[in-house]
Parts: sequence; C-alpha cells; structure tokens
Amino acid sequence: MPAYEASLEFPSSLSRAGPSGGPLRDDGGALRLESGPATLPFGRSDLGLRIIANGTPTGPRLMLRLGISSCLLGERVRYDANHKREPLLVETLAPFIRWLPVCPEIEAGMGAPREPIRIERASELPGERRLRAIESRRDLTESMSTFVTSRAASLPGDLHGFVLKAKSPSCGRGDAAIHDSQGEVLGLGDGFFASALTRSRPDLPLATEAELRDREHRIRFFARAAARLRREEIHASPPGASEREALRKRLLAIALLLGGPARERVEEALAAIDETAHASVDFPPWSARRYGDLLVEIVDAAVLVSLPLEAGASESIAPSVSFLFDEALYAALRA
Ligand code: SF4
Repeated sequence: MPAYEASLEFPSSLSRAGPSGGPLRDDGGALRLESGPATLPFGRSDLGLRIIANGTPTGPRLMLRLGISSCLLGERVRYDANHKREPLLVETLAPFIRWLPVCPEIEAGMGAPREPIRIERASELPGERRLRAIESRRDLTESMSTFVTSRAASLPGDLHGFVLKAKSPSCGRGDAAIHDSQGEVLGLGDGFFASALTRSRPDLPLATEAELRDREHRIRFFARAAARLRREEIHASPPGASEREALRKRLLAIALLLGGPARERVEEALAAIDETAHASVDFPPWSARRYGDLLVEIVDAAVLVSLPLEAGASESIAPSVSFLFDEALYAALRA
C-alpha cells in the first residue's frame, strides 16, 4: 500500500512558539512542528482509522453520524416534489457518513407537492416571525414551531453534526429570507427547524450544503464532527500509554497553534490528566473521558475562535487542524 503523507507548511510566527520556547518536535516521527516546511507522516490516524489507498478503505471506516435535510440526499420532498441532491455529500463523502435524513415539512404532514411557504416579519412587530403559505396566507407558525421543537429534541444524542439545506424557511441557517407581507426581503435568519436545532443542541456542529462547498468550511465542520467521533472512541476504549502520548502531542500541537491563555489552559489540563494517570497503575476511566472532552473543546476553540483562517494563512493553518481527521476523509475533502 502506498505511503500517504501530507506536507504542512507552518507560518514562522507559529513555529517560533513551541512549548519550551522552541519548536515542538517528535524525533520518533509522529509529529514535528518547526520553521519552514514540516512533515506530518500519516500512518494510523489520530482518529484510529486507516488510510484509503486508491479509493479502497484498508481499515476501520470513518463513520460519522450526521443528520441531513432529506432533499440534499435526492429525496423528492421539496414543495415542488423535487429534490436538491448534493453530489459532494451523496457521492464524495457518502462512504464515510451514516446519514439521518430529516424533512421537517414532510414530517409535519405538509406533503409534496405543497404550497410554498416563507418567513414573514410583520413591520409592527419587528421581533416576531411568522411562517406563512405564500398564496393562501395560511399561518403555520404555531404548528410548525411545536413540531420542530419536538423533532429537534427527539434526534439521537450521538449525532456528530447536521447538514442543513441553505436558504430554506425551515432548514436554512442564517440565510433564510425574511419577508414583509408583500414579499419584500427584509433580512436573513435561521429557518424554523434550524432555529429549533440550535436551541435544542447548541454544541452540535451545523453547516449548510452551500457552506460545505467551501474547503475551509468543510474543514471546520468535519474537524468538529470528527473530534466528537474520536471522543466517543476514547470514552468507549481508554487509550493505552502510547496512544495517550500520541493524543497528548496532538492536543499540544493545537494548543501551540492557539497560543496565549488557551495554550496555557490546555497545558494545565493535560498536566492534571497526566498527574491522575500516573497516580494509578490502571488508567483511570474518568481521566480518559477527560481526554476526549478536551479534544472536542480544543478543536471547537481552534476551529471556531482562534484560527480565523484568514486569507494567506489558511493554507498553512487549515491542514494542521485537519490532521485530526481520518486521512481518507481529508483526502476526500481536498478533492
Ligand atoms: S429544505 Fe428542509 S423542509 Fe425543505 S424540502 Fe429540504 S429537508 Fe424538507
């Protein structure tokens, strides 16, 4: 099987700030961060998954569990009884994902085809949003609000993320048009289901298919989802000493990229975990859980807050976050 390697170029400003004032190195070859080009050899990935060589999985599959707006899978559930099949999701990424399709409008009993609906905001009540059928003016606000709240709450607790259909009055995320009663667009916001999902599961990574067409968005979303999968694995099967050390290095590497107080916080947390681990012959289960939780916390922080992936820096920083991915998924995301 061909070796799979990714060369990472780290910005000199980051590589100067190693944990002991110098670059983070691992002469065993697992990881090195230093000035100039750095190489991260991929063997068994940090996710405990295997390389895909020439499109053929050679080890345990990455199987993220993601919710998705049904129409993106090609299901004919739209108001016009059509779909919005998204090839990136249905073809490129499908081998790595177990989808949980949800169409809130169909599940609420609206059928397909159906009269199109839109979000309206009455000018006299600027904070209030109504969901109305466009032609009949039927008001669906209460029934839909009740339905989506209970549907979001009933989603399985072990989802790693949710892919939503952009611009939909139900599924849109920040990009659903909000109209006045004449149909003029007043602004953009969340669709009713997306809103309920955010309230019910504030930590769940969310993205629209439109966002996922952008490479940086894909990396942000899948890094967060993959970290949640990895957390499950760590919780289910506490890592041995060598795996713990590998994970520790990766967490430190991200801490290094975060810099400042975030880095100190990570180093303190790792030190506390290590202290506990060394206090017992057996690796204490709670400590293993803490590793998994810390991984998710750090990746979220790295992806959401501290790594803006600005123009020019993105090619350098994004892959360093993405080494938390399974290599196969990473390769697919780069395609
Ligand atoms: S956008 Fe959402 S509500 Fe509309 S058809 Fe797709 S899944 Fe159904």
